Amino acid sequence: MRAMVMTDQPDGRTLQPLNSQELPQPEPAGPFDVVVRIAAAGVCRSDLHILMGELPVSVPHVLGHENSGWVHAVGPMVSTVEVGQAVLCYPFVSDGLSAPERRGVDSAAPGRRTPGIDCDGGYAEYLLVTERSLIRLPADADLAAMATLSDAGLAAYRACRKAAAALEPGSLAVVVGVGGLGHLAVQILRSTTAARILAVDTRAEARDLAVSCGAHHACSPTELAAAAGSEAAAVIDFVGSDESASSALSCLGFGGSYFAAGVGGSLSVPILQLVTKETRIEGVYVGTYPELVELTRLALRGDVRPVVVTYSLSDADRALKDLAAGSFVGRAVLTP
Ligand code: ZN
Repeated sequence: MRAMVMTDQPDGRTLQPLNSQELPQPEPAGPFDVVVRIAAAGVCRSDLHILMGELPVSVPHVLGHENSGWVHAVGPMVSTVEVGQAVLCYPFVSDGLSAPERRGVDSAAPGRRTPGIDCDGGYAEYLLVTERSLIRLPADADLAAMATLSDAGLAAYRACRKAAAALEPGSLAVVVGVGGLGHLAVQILRSTTAARILAVDTRAEARDLAVSCGAHHACSPTELAAAAGSEAAAVIDFVGSDESASSALSCLGFGGSYFAAGVGGSLSVPILQLVTKETRIEGVYVGTYPELVELTRLALRGDVRPVVVTYSLSDADRALKDLAAGSFVGRAVLTP
């Protein structure tokens, strides 16, 4: 099968190119294994971190942790999907036996695999997973749009669910960063809360996208202090830089919550603020399988509509460079 393969271990902050190679097509090796024929693989900022050596992986390596497709082959004990079924791939593959998995938090499972991160992922024609990680989709589902739900959408959904607990009707929710995750978060907040939504992005086209996705207002980071004042009930930060975190924290009102969903910088907050404003700070790491099922339902009924830019698999390098340069809005996916 064709795959875009990372063959060099990066040693700096330079984007490493991928090589188009023929790899052996995976086959079901275990009784619950499923081989998925890839329809679309999302292009994530984490892929940039891997290609710049900030997240170590062993090479050769196939990226792609945000995948959809059709069941191509199944192991002998697989009972919940059949060949030809359209599926969305939950990003974690695990056996379900550890305590975190029994609570549904596969992201914290000690023995989990994450295709595209610690084993071969979906920048390829076929992907090996297990049936436990699959969500069945209708045959006519838009699989390119659905792929973006399994990582970008899921993290946005989990962040919004956490934020919703702090959001009363009319209270202010701030979404910082209107990229692949942020534009979905705006839609999720709009569909599931009655909050006022303020979206923040450096790019005018991303602010326009936020408004078209349902944000009530959009502004640049330099305008945030004036636009939000100090009354936000929740801020979801998809940028995660020193600057975004500090400006987000300063616009929280009493009892406000800061949710970190992007990574890159570090956070410094006076304890005086934590105490006197009862500020809450919480991280968001992907999400649970049930959350992905819920989000899938929102998307299938049209309440969440991912904005997708499609590249062919062989154009993976261009997609990654465009993501790094911020030259598209929404989420990029690769199609084999
Ligand atoms: Zn990702």
